[in-house]
Amino acid sequence: MAPDTPRVRFAPSPTGYFHVGSARTALFNWLVARQSGGTFVLRIEDTDAERNREEWVDGILSALHWLGMEADEGPYRQSLRTGRYHQAIDALWDAGLLYACACTHDEVTARNKAAGILTPGYDGHCRALGLPRGEGRALRFITPDEGTVVVPDVIRGDVEFPCQAMDDFVAVKGNGAPLFVLANVVDDIDMAITHVIRGEDLLPTTPKGILMWDALAGIGWTTDGTVGPAEEPTPPLPVFAHLPMLVNEARKKLSKRKDPVAVETYRDQGYLPDAFVNYLGLLGWGPPNDRAEVFTRDQMVDWFALADVNHSPAFFDVAKLTHMNGEYIRAMAPEDFIEACRPWLEGDSAPWPAGSFDEAAFRAMAPVVQERVAVLGEVPGMVDFLFLDTPDIDPDSWQKALAGDDDAPAILSAATAAYEALRADWTAGALHAATLEVAESVGRKLGKAQAPVRVAVTGRRVGPPLFEALEVLGPDRTLARLADARARLSDGGPVPT
Ligand code: GLU
Ligand code: ZN
Repeated sequence: MAPDTPRVRFAPSPTGYFHVGSARTALFNWLVARQSGGTFVLRIEDTDAERNREEWVDGILSALHWLGMEADEGPYRQSLRTGRYHQAIDALWDAGLLYACACTHDEVTARNKAAGILTPGYDGHCRALGLPRGEGRALRFITPDEGTVVVPDVIRGDVEFPCQAMDDFVAVKGNGAPLFVLANVVDDIDMAITHVIRGEDLLPTTPKGILMWDALAGIGWTTDGTVGPAEEPTPPLPVFAHLPMLVNEARKKLSKRKDPVAVETYRDQGYLPDAFVNYLGLLGWGPPNDRAEVFTRDQMVDWFALADVNHSPAFFDVAKLTHMNGEYIRAMAPEDFIEACRPWLEGDSAPWPAGSFDEAAFRAMAPVVQERVAVLGEVPGMVDFLFLDTPDIDPDSWQKALAGDDDAPAILSAATAAYEALRADWTAGALHAATLEVAESVGRKLGKAQAPVRVAVTGRRVGPPLFEALEVLGPDRTLARLADARARLSDGGPVPT
């Protein structure tokens, strides 16, 4: 009996970092489950022992956890289900739907070449030979010679595949290991999957999967572990939806090597899971009637429809994602922002000595930092001047704002004098007013006059608003840093290291 609520599955192969395309696939499956009271199944397709690594399995689990898309069922692991695949292989073999093939790749190529066939593919050579199983022979699945297989796809409509172009594909390797189509279809049947939602790269193998599904149904393969007439017959074919591929700025398929595709790196840079998930939702879909692009998970669950996914490639635009992340950061409650920053402030990666972090100083700066960062990973660089004994001076900033600016010594001296007078009234407002006067005294706009002070005190030309920064840093450290920079300048000394 088919389940009355959808059962979807996310079926990654643990062969590398968790790809943004996989995250998008997981999301669209998760949305269908959440909006229908359905079940989101996680299946690790780890049959390829040579390419799979346990750490990639951990990566999948932790990425799904980070994204807030934990599975309702699973993870199932194909590597633990080989008995089931061998049952299916035996049943298909007994029914005459598989045959043993002794050909090598070179033999097939040579025969194709001699026959003038340029397209690679198996010529059916062993189909009629009746070779026995074993002895390292692969098992091929008999595909029809004529007709077409139609993949009914919710997103693309009916996609037709002529059988002539489909060879008798290998279902079981010479060493007895089941290949993708067989394991994938046996699992979808056994797990009573109703919707197969996956990347468009898998569309070309779907007709083979449909033939496999029909073959298993034809021999009475059941979901309760038996073959033959049973109470749980093979369920009908699932609904198929092949999601559009993701492309880069050049409209080329995202490349694992050239494009930033690993979800882990976004997490580590301080993208927020909600922003990331929101952005993933725009990759091939968008709310109906062009409602806002920023929406909550609940809204996405309400609005999403598989049939509204479009089939043209979706541009994975890191700049847009980053912009959106900044909007999410600014929308956070101040306390939530502070908590979200913790891993960057208190972890080993923080650019100041352990123990020198000052909670009160950070809290004082947090509101202006929150306004300015696009990812949380930028936060330490905005506040490190507060926790380091001497600021970490960026050589380029030093050169431009101090060593290369003839007015810099005069500005530092004037600022020192002005700020000394403010010790009793050390506020951002007073510091602002005093710096304005310094700027006027050297005939500069405020922005230009600030640069030497900013670099002397924070180490960089860009950063948090200067006067708030000085207020939090306090008079002693501010004045010491100005004096230090002034001294180095008059020594003509090098960039401090
Ligand atoms: N394991 C396959 C992959 O990672 C996906 C299988 C599927 O979704 O059907 O490409
Ligand atoms: Zn052969």
